[in-house]
Amino acid sequence: MTGQTAKIESRCDGCGGTLVRQVNQFIDRGQLWWDAEASCTSCGDGWWEHPDSGKPPKEVRSALLAAHGPSRLRVVGPVPNLVSVLKVLREVWEVPLPQARELADELTHAGLVGTLAEMEFLHTRLRSRGVAAEVRSDAGPEGERIPP
Ligand SMILES: [Zn+2]
Repeated sequence: MTGQTAKIESRCDGCGGTLVRQVNQFIDRGQLWWDAEASCTSCGDGWWEHPDSGKPPKEVRSALLAAHGPSRLRVVGPVPNLVSVLKVLREVWEVPLPQARELADELTHAGLVGTLAEMEFLHTRLRSRGVAAEVRSDAGPEGERIPP
């Protein structure tokens, strides 16, 4: 299972201590999910946020990107079928066609940037439609390759 986790610290409403919210993003049963678990290090107050599919809220994404750095997904070789790429992008991100076209353009040129789980998820969906792509950590062209 591909997944990443990060911690977001804030102030506990109850006691003023440190509230740690652990956020997770992962691929499970062919879907992209995120969930979170929060607990106060002082009073033990906490809660669990149910897994939700799709793109996580902004603060969750930024925490994951800050903790792990972005990943880059790029289509390698000639695109066999642009319609397949557009279809995958529209299914995964639920974006309108013009935006899917822009994303497809990034995907086939410089590469699309996001969290590892997001890029791996797109990668799997593209592969199932016969589109070859690769995921790398976004540390520049000399960046370390993420092992499969
Ligand atoms: Zn507390």
